[in-house]
Amino acid sequence: MNIPARFSLFFLILSVSGPGGISAHRDGEKDSTVKTMEDFSGYSIHEPNYPTSVSSLSVDTHSLQKQIDELSTFSDSPAPSVTRVLYSANDVLARRYVKSLMSLSGLSVREDAVGNIFGRWNGYEPELAPVATGSHIDAIPYSGKYDGVVGVLGAIEALNALNRSGFKPKRSLEVIMFTSEEPTRFGISCLGSRLMAGSVELEGLLKKTVDGQNISFSDAAESAGYRNALHFSNVLLKKGSYSAFIELHIEQGPLLEEEAIPIGIVTAIAAPASIKVDFEGNGGHAGAVLMPKRNDAGLAAAELALAVEKHVLESGSMDTVGTVGILELHPGAVNSIPSKSHLEIDTRDIDEKRRNEVVEKIHQSALSIAEKRNVKLSEFKIVNQDPPAQSDESITMATESACRQLNLNYKKMISRAYHDSLFMARVSLMGMIFIPCYKGYSHKPEEFSDIEDIANGVKVLALTLAKLSSLQA
Ligand SMILES: [Zn+2]
Repeated sequence: MNIPARFSLFFLILSVSGPGGISAHRDGEKDSTVKTMEDFSGYSIHEPNYPTSVSSLSVDTHSLQKQIDELSTFSDSPAPSVTRVLYSANDVLARRYVKSLMSLSGLSVREDAVGNIFGRWNGYEPELAPVATGSHIDAIPYSGKYDGVVGVLGAIEALNALNRSGFKPKRSLEVIMFTSEEPTRFGISCLGSRLMAGSVELEGLLKKTVDGQNISFSDAAESAGYRNALHFSNVLLKKGSYSAFIELHIEQGPLLEEEAIPIGIVTAIAAPASIKVDFEGNGGHAGAVLMPKRNDAGLAAAELALAVEKHVLESGSMDTVGTVGILELHPGAVNSIPSKSHLEIDTRDIDEKRRNEVVEKIHQSALSIAEKRNVKLSEFKIVNQDPPAQSDESITMATESACRQLNLNYKKMISRAYHDSLFMARVSLMGMIFIPCYKGYSHKPEEFSDIEDIANGVKVLALTLAKLSSLQA
């Protein structure tokens, strides 16, 4: 067996004694290799350890695809689309399915007050902070079956693959299924991970928020079996609860597929600021009011939309983006000068300072446009302004090393969409692994990732978890 020295870290923690692990015992091979591993690690290996190669790490693609397909049947819309909204009947069934898979894999399962689900494989040094991985399974209306799901079912399979290879974790390994990454029901994205990271604002909001049917958050949660959903202290994670968190996810963009690269290693996650703006003018008859006499709230909105684009481009970075996704005019009649306008603006960056400068410039433009057009800026509200997150080098390095071991080409990239990882980064070191998806499609039924691409992601995740599990500090 030819093991380059830089890969020894993984091999030193392979053992045949993992729960249900396969036997990798090969007489006569162990002593010299174990010695090398001990020298490398600086601590002795007490249990029998036998060399295993990366080739023993196999992903059960058949089962994994079957699970992805089965999970997609818990949906409020017909296949191939998936609609799975927080605390709906299908969400409850899907949660039950995930918990049963965790149990079948020998993980100990627990849930917190809002339904974040945890499946833990205890390490042989359980007092050390565990390494966590995971994602979400909720799906916006008429979306696909891979977004989030790959990072939950793939994570369970990564632990299974490690177990089958004979690996035994030092730090415990934990799979997390986050509650409500999508904002569909209560308008709050990454609800579960935000609460884990601690958000007093969100806690206050959830106590009074209702969905489109006027059902409160706590009533909705109770209908799904979570009776104490407002006990947020039960959800909160202390900083350092996990030594590392890493999420496997489809790219939701076209780059990996276009460049035929199987793995993306995320170096940073961009974060949005969302802004709501209202202008008010006098309105009037489209024929009767002469142009110099107008204070047209619609034109103020149009001018601000162009200003958003201008300020974003001025940043000089491709990573700064801005979008006016909502622009409404009141009363919305062809022969009426708009008396009110409403815009919703999303601007994102991986650099918080640069993004906040754009927000400030947009505010200044809103003020000056209102003055110039003699309309009232009746609202300029920054709805949220989450800080972006950087991946930790110890995690990206572990992932790079895993890719090299597996002979998989990789690309370092940023995540322009945000994920539960953005919030986990507040309480843990964080990293993400991307895999290609068809044409970059996501949030629609055509969303697709090839099972071989998923398997590559699962293997890279498994090896990365193995490495992180073995780290002392
Ligand atoms: Zn997702």
